[in-house]
Order: sequence, then structure tokens, then C-alpha cells
Amino acid sequence: MVVISKPVFDAYCKEVPCYTLVHPWTKSCLRASPTIFKACLIGSVKFFAFIYLGQLLMQGKKLKKKEQWIKIGKDYGRSVVTGVLVSVSGMQLVCLLRNLLGRFDYHFFLSIPFALSGIFLTLESPSRRQLITNFYSNLVIEYCLKYLNRAGFISITKTKEVLLFMIGNSLLLYLIRLETVKKERSSILWLIVPEKVRQKSYGSENVCPHDGECKNYIMKNMSTYFGIGLAVSLAKVLIPRFKTPIKAISSISGRHFKLALFLSSYVGIYKTLICYLCRRNKYDSAMYALPAGCLAGLSMLFNPNLALSIASFTAAFKLYSTTLYEKNFLPSSIPLPLILFCVCQGTLYSVRMLDSEISPRYMFYLMNTASNGLSDSLFKSFCETFIN
Ligand SMILES: [Zn+2]
Ligand SMILES: [Zn+2]
Repeated sequence: MVVISKPVFDAYCKEVPCYTLVHPWTKSCLRASPTIFKACLIGSVKFFAFIYLGQLLMQGKKLKKKEQWIKIGKDYGRSVVTGVLVSVSGMQLVCLLRNLLGRFDYHFFLSIPFALSGIFLTLESPSRRQLITNFYSNLVIEYCLKYLNRAGFISITKTKEVLLFMIGNSLLLYLIRLETVKKERSSILWLIVPEKVRQKSYGSENVCPHDGECKNYIMKNMSTYFGIGLAVSLAKVLIPRFKTPIKAISSISGRHFKLALFLSSYVGIYKTLICYLCRRNKYDSAMYALPAGCLAGLSMLFNPNLALSIASFTAAFKLYSTTLYEKNFLPSSIPLPLILFCVCQGTLYSVRMLDSEISPRYMFYLMNTASNGLSDSLFKSFCETFIN
């Protein structure tokens, strides 16, 4: 993994023309555009096809409706257009900034152009905008923590990751359950969808938030989540090696059960505690999600994951921010989420190129797939600038 320091960058890249770093196949910025456009179009079509395919699989029964298919098709088109515009305009702005300043600036040559191109996020549907902004904030926090860890200010250990997840998860599940009484619910993508808080009703014996017997309900959820976890882990092993199935099957080991164990114990602990508290107190309350979410977080011992620990906090903050907007603590006239997205995108693109040692892994995949391999080949030629 390459870390390019400011002195090294200034010595080798500061004065080079834009084509050296952005379009080494032609000296003309204009003539480079069709190649960049083509790569980003093919890349975005592929990248979003994969994401929407996952979404389709999660929709299940809802897909029987024709309107749902039309909506997904429209959203896919919007995402592809956004992806192309963000990538193409970002690269053109790198050239423009270089030509305006007369040099490349270490801190700003990528961060400013890609922060500006982030404005195209407004083309995405509002719910996807929220999810993407949330996701990018998670990645920036992950980068900041890794940066502080490397600088020796903090130490990230597996135990701390689990503790962080226990706190974040309990807050998040509590806020989600609290929201279940509202008509309009925020779009939060999380490991489970907690049940609505059951309101007290006369004549009903059931105090739990679910129908049917507790034991059956918990076991059914645990086995479903175990199955999902196992299917995801096995797909990751088997799909890339589908040409050699026997070799692929023989490479399956105990570690491929980690995700399944994590998910099933997570859902099992959470639901068992909610049921226990409902039955003990004879009524349901959103508050039960606090202890249940905290203890369910222990299941991360099977599969420690810093990104997920951070995601629990940012998702909780996202839910809490709707309350802050409602109480006018946050001004709704300023597009704060869009500004946040732009800053995050600028930072992440810059970090991917200059500090790939601690850049979130997802950025490698995103940038390379969405540009149909162009980003990696540019990074390679960028590194060659220092070697030659
Ligand atoms: Zn150029
Ligand atoms: Zn129950």
C-alpha cells in the first residue's frame, strides 16, 4: 500500500502538466473526454447493476407489483447518470483546477474537484441520497480512526470494536423503535427491522411485539439469519471460483460460518430479551431496545468489524438528526446533508490516491468499478511518476 507524502508529491508532481496524472494517453484535455466518458458509463452501468440486483433480491414479495419494477428501473437510470456525471466532471475539474492554479496542490488537487462534483448527488432519489451520505460519513470516520490509530493517538482493538458496537447498536435500535409510532419513518438500512412497539390494548393477551409463540418466533428468525449469513459467505467463496467447483468447496472452512453465527446470535439475543422484558413487565416499550441492543452487540465477538461499529453510531445520529430538524436545532434552509456528502467524497477520493494504506477498502472497489478500471490504471501511472 502506497503513502505519498507532501514533500514527495511536491518534488515529482507539483509542476507536471495535467495529462501526466489525469489522461496520460493524450495531451489534450478535450480529446481525453470521450475515453473518460466511455469508461465511466460502462463502469457505472456495471457498478449499479450489482447494487440494484442486491436490492431486487431483498424486495421479495413486493416485486409482484408492476409499479415497483418501474420505480427500480427509474432509480437505476438516475444512479447511472449520477455516477457518470460525478466521475466525468470530477476528472475534468482536476484538469481545470491544475490549469487555473498553474500547479498541482497536494491537499486540494483531488479533494476540491470531487467535492464539487458531489453536487450531482441531487439527481439521486431522496431516500438513496440519505443512504449514500450516511455510508460516506461512515467511511470518513473509519479513515479518521485509522489515521489516529496510525499516529499513535488511539489504539483500535477488537474489544473496543465490540464495545463500540454494543453502545451504538443499543442507541440505534432504541431510536428505531421510538420512531415506530411515527407515520413517516426515516430510511435506515440496518441488520434487522425491529418490530413496532405494541400499544396496550384491552382484551389482548399478547404483550410481545410479534404474533405467535415467542420460542417459534425467535427460532425462525435465528435460522433465517443463519441461512442469510451462510449464503453470503459461501457466495463470496464459490462465485469467484465457479470454474473449479471441487477446489472451491474444499476451501470452505470454519471461518466461513462467522457471519452466520454473528447474525443468528445477534437476532437471537435481541429478540429473546425483548420478549423476556415484555412478558416480565406485562407491556411493551421502546426502552427495552437499550439493554437488548447492547447485549445483542456482544455477538460481534464472532465477527469484529470496525466499519459496522461506526455505522451503528452514524445511523443512530442520522435518526436523531430528524428530531433536531423537527425542533429547529438544525436549519432546514441550508443543505447540510449535501455539504456533508461533498466534503466526504472529496476527502475519500483524495485519500484513496494519496494515502491508500489506511483508505477504506470499499473506495478501491467503488472507484475502480465505477470507472471500469480507469482509476487503478491512473493510480499505477501516478505511482510510476515517482519511480521514473
Ligand atoms: Zn487535462
Ligand atoms: Zn415474544
